[in-house]
This record gives sequence, structure tokens and C-alpha cells, in this order.
Amino acid sequence: MAKIQMKTPLVEMDGDEMTRVIWKMIKDILITPFVDLKSEYYDLGLEYRNETNDQVTIDSAEATKKYGVAVKCATITPNAARMTEYNLKEMWKSPNGTIRAMLDGTVFRTPIIVKGITPYIPTWTKPITIARHAYGDVYKNTEMQVKQGSKCELVCTDESGNETRELIYNFSDSDGIIQGLHNKDKSIASFARSCFNFALDTKQDIWFATKDTISKKYDHRFKDIFAEIYESEYKERFEAAGIEYFYTLIDDAVARVIRSNGGYIWACKNYDGDVMSDMVATAYGSLAMMTSVLVSPDGVYEYEAAHGTVQRHYYKHLKGERTSTNSVATIFAWSGALRKRGEMDNLPELMDYADKLEKATIQTIEEGVMTGDLAALSSIENKQSVDTETFLVEIGKRLKLLVEGN
Ligand code: NAP
Ligand code: MG
Repeated sequence: MAKIQMKTPLVEMDGDEMTRVIWKMIKDILITPFVDLKSEYYDLGLEYRNETNDQVTIDSAEATKKYGVAVKCATITPNAARMTEYNLKEMWKSPNGTIRAMLDGTVFRTPIIVKGITPYIPTWTKPITIARHAYGDVYKNTEMQVKQGSKCELVCTDESGNETRELIYNFSDSDGIIQGLHNKDKSIASFARSCFNFALDTKQDIWFATKDTISKKYDHRFKDIFAEIYESEYKERFEAAGIEYFYTLIDDAVARVIRSNGGYIWACKNYDGDVMSDMVATAYGSLAMMTSVLVSPDGVYEYEAAHGTVQRHYYKHLKGERTSTNSVATIFAWSGALRKRGEMDNLPELMDYADKLEKATIQTIEEGVMTGDLAALSSIENKQSVDTETFLVEIGKRLKLLVEGN
């Protein structure tokens, strides 16, 4: 069979540990036998990041801006232990943080749903995608412990030196704590555009919620910016696509989410997104079944798995022991990126291949062949827990049949 041809290269960001091992297996077993893969390869493995003083991360983000689509493997974010383990020159920053900042993007996380694994909330039959605004608020705060008798004020000095003051609190009867937060209109607007673009892209409704009844200036500004951008830039396209944007109070959103069937995007402020994405991931069953895509406001996409490098499995692998590492989220990163590449380059065959790759993956699990983490959750009878490579080979067999049209 002739391999599927590509036009523009896909930016490929390799990574670390067990996910690096899986990365190569996915390419060898599921991609290159079917697609004449055109990729621009960047090695974001920690050793090469260290060798290049992290320049390779910056180069890979620049290439993503140039070509529009990237697929990324999980990477180590160095900490003190990694400094010695890899003999690092510096504690390099998280590649995800660097790439996100350069693309000014928003991260969308979506669970992959399969029969046999029931979410803890059984009515969630469709995925809930969480979009987290990854800038500012409590993550860039300034805080103080203050002594009794202190008077605390918010002071803003404008360009010409004029001061505006607001009393925070007079600590007349107790010691206490204060905190200063900020966000930028520019960042909120980028967040809104990424959200609206992603909703149009995936033809799903989008919900946004804050506590604007209590926070009449701060949270209210988020609400207003979303409303202004929606009205002036997206309303018509949403109506044409038959999808909806709606704003509600965060308390109401939580109640609606619990009662819903899924199938929409929930846009969250930074802290809400941090907390809610962990809640949603847990409720759907497994972090290894969460895909993630970074979307920039000007339509650049970077696909990856939500989980890390699965270090414990890697050490077993190095000792020659059997591993049963779940490759589903990484496979979906590849299928997502290839489908988007196909869409941008008008290559229906490539988009069709991406659909089949996902279908073969889900079919394999629903036929009872899965990795250990899923076998522990699945209610399917006669399920079989297989090793890392066998799982991919089993997907490959089904994919071949689908591609050959059987
Ligand atoms: P992790 O790699 O996600 O793994 C945590 C645990 O979750 C694993 O030990 C494993 O549990 C389970 N797990 C996660 N993914 C799995 C999969 N695909 N198949 C089977 N089980 C899976 O998180 P971590 O151990 O906290 O972090 C390891 C490294 O990854 C760190 O260096 C961190 O910096 C990095 N990290 C990178 C990213 C990223 O690049 N996006 C994200 C998060 C973390 P059992 O051991 O019980 O089997
Ligand atoms: Mg969290």
C-alpha cells in the first residue's frame, strides 16, 4: 500500500524517560508504516536541553510558530534530584512553560472515553474539556504577613506619578495576612480568543465562569472582556456553527457541570482550572487517558499527553523488567497533530488516517486488550493486561485492517 504523503512538516518534540521509549515505538509501529512522515525533529530530552543551554526548546517553539502544528513528548522539569542525576549546568525551566509563554497559548485538556471504564460521575458520557488561563492571579502574587496595628492599602501609581489608594484592612485587633494579585487585559483577551477558536474548531459549546458578583472589578473584567470579544469577533461564526457561548457564576457552573452529560468546554480562571482539571481527570478515571493541546490566539497548535514521563516505569524498563505503560494519550497527541496538519494542508487522507488511528486504539481497549492501569479500572470481561509493546502491536493490527478498508 502506498504511504500517505504530507505537505508541510510537523514539528516533533522528543522527550524523556518512559515516554521517550513509547515515542519511538508509536512512530515505528503506528505511524511510519502508514504515513510518509515529514517532521522537523527537536530533541527536548533533558541531556540535549542541557547541552544546548535550553536553546533547543526555544528553537522548537519558534518552529511551531512557523509551521503551525507540533507534537510533544513528555519532558522532565528539572528539580534538585535531577540536577545530580543528569549533571545539569542549570536548573532549566519547564519546557512546557517556555513554549506556552512563547506561543501565548491556552491549554485544553480532554479525557479519552472508552467503554468499560465508567467515570465516577456515570452521567458524564461525553468528555468535558477544561481550558485553564495559565497567567497571573494567585500564581504571580505578592503576599505579606502583617502585625496587629498595621493599616494596609492598595496603592497604584500611574505614569505621571498620581497615586490612587484603597484601604484593604485596618488590622486593629489582630495580626493578619494580605495578598496582591494582578492580571492583564491582553492576556485575558488572548485566553478568550484561544477558547473561542477551540470551540469553533471542535464544534462544542463553551462555558466561562468567575465570581463576578463578589469581585466586581477583577472577575468582572474577565467577564466583560469575554463578552466584548465574543460579540465583536465570534458571535456570527458561533451561530453559523450552531454552538453557544455562555457565562455564568462559578457556583452555578459547578452545579451544571455535575448534572451535565459532558460534551463542552469549560473555560476557567487560573486557580479554578488548576483545581478543576485534576478533579475532572480523576473523575474520568486515569491521567494516562488525558490529552492536552496548547492553542495560541492566532491558531498555532501543540499536542501532547497530560501525564509526565512515567519515571517509575522507566527505571523498570532500564532493568529489563516488563512494563505496561499506557500510550493512549501520546497516540492521541500524534493523531490530533496529524489531523490538524491534514486540515491545514487540505489532506483528507491524512485526516482520515488520524481518525482510524484513534478508532483502532479505542477498539483495542474495548475488545479487552489494555495496559495494566486500565485493566485495573475496566469492567470488561476477559480483559487482558498486556505489556507496553504488545499493546501497540495490537493497535497496529487493527489499524492495518481499518486502513486497508476491512
Ligand atoms: P507522571 O509521569 O505522570 O507519573 C505519575 C504516575 O502516574 C506514574 O508513576 C504512574 O503510576 C501513573 N502514570 C502516569 N502516566 C502513565 C501512563 N502513561 N501509563 C501508566 N501509568 C501512568 O508524573 P510524575 O511521576 O509526577 O513525573 C515524572 C516526570 O514527568 C517529572 O520529571 C516531571 O517533571 C515530568 N512531567 C512532565 C510533564 C509534561 O511534560 N507535560 C507533565 C507532568 C510531569 P504507577 O507508578 O503507580 O504505575
Ligand atoms: Mg493541579
